[in-house]
Amino acid sequence: MEKALFYTSDGKNVRCFLCPHNCLVEEGDYGVCNMRKNIEGELYTVNYGIASAVNLDPVEKKPMYHFYPGSKILSVGSIGCNLRCKYCQNYTIAQGKFEDFSDYTEGISPEVIAEEAEKLKDRGNIGVAYTYNEPVIWYEFMYDISKTIKARGMKNIMVSNGFINPEPLEKLLETIDAFSIDLKGFTDEFYKKITGSRLEPVKRTLEIIAASDRHLEVEYLVIPGHNDDKKEFSQMLEWYEKSLGKDVPLHINRYFPMYKMKEPATPMKTLTELYEMAREKLDYVYLGNVESELGRDTLCPGCGEIIIKRTGYFSELLGSEEGVCKKCGRKIRGEGL
Ligand code: SF4
Repeated sequence: MEKALFYTSDGKNVRCFLCPHNCLVEEGDYGVCNMRKNIEGELYTVNYGIASAVNLDPVEKKPMYHFYPGSKILSVGSIGCNLRCKYCQNYTIAQGKFEDFSDYTEGISPEVIAEEAEKLKDRGNIGVAYTYNEPVIWYEFMYDISKTIKARGMKNIMVSNGFINPEPLEKLLETIDAFSIDLKGFTDEFYKKITGSRLEPVKRTLEIIAASDRHLEVEYLVIPGHNDDKKEFSQMLEWYEKSLGKDVPLHINRYFPMYKMKEPATPMKTLTELYEMAREKLDYVYLGNVESELGRDTLCPGCGEIIIKRTGYFSELLGSEEGVCKKCGRKIRGEGL
């Protein structure tokens, strides 16, 4: 447990402004995330140093398709989340009170993670990814690890729901090299009903990252009857192209029933239609959680040449050199291409 960043105190109650819930936390209580606690008028991050999972994964698994394809990344996660998604894929580590996670009590230091990342370099590791549960509510530990990783010349990837306030986000831009951010839907109603949060702060996060020099990829999980309306999706694409840029990669992912959501899996027909709509506007669109060749490889937006060929999580960089298409010379978005 460590003292938290981003809060104010009147000596008794504290106001946390790490994420847009901006919780007012009374003495002895936790915020909505259940991971930040008011102890005697000070806010503490109780999951500091607690890791629920540490794995060496292909970078494609994050998913990150335009960032050092074919490399590996040491992926670490903790416990808790600031959202309440009804379809949470990682609810066993993300949803619940701090006391529910008594299996995860052993603390580790940023240096231990950094040492491990360094040791794994010879197995293709490029750095550390903060993933599995929501890294925003592991902020202080993630930031401390990311500083160490950056100092060692390695890379940091954050996989997040994007529900974070601008000030803490701006600070992360100092150390995080690449962001994979969920855009869970495109109406506030969806965000409130299905995730327990709001759309506008997530749009703001995406806009801030897109305007920075950091790499960004966006995830859109399609849930039948909830966020698959074509008119809404088209409005999302218009905003995306204008506010983020047509060359920011978009991953359209298939949903499967999970946790509290029982709707059947997304039909392939829906995914194909939304994919075709997105392809008309954006340069790089992918389909995830499907066994299909559609939306699998990276093609040059200029000449259609295959830049990166993928089989499962295995990637082969074929068509670019120094970030440009070998055939037509078009710049391909990303790093390590
Ligand atoms: S990080 Fe947690 S305590 Fe802070 S505002 Fe968000 S939900 Fe509330």
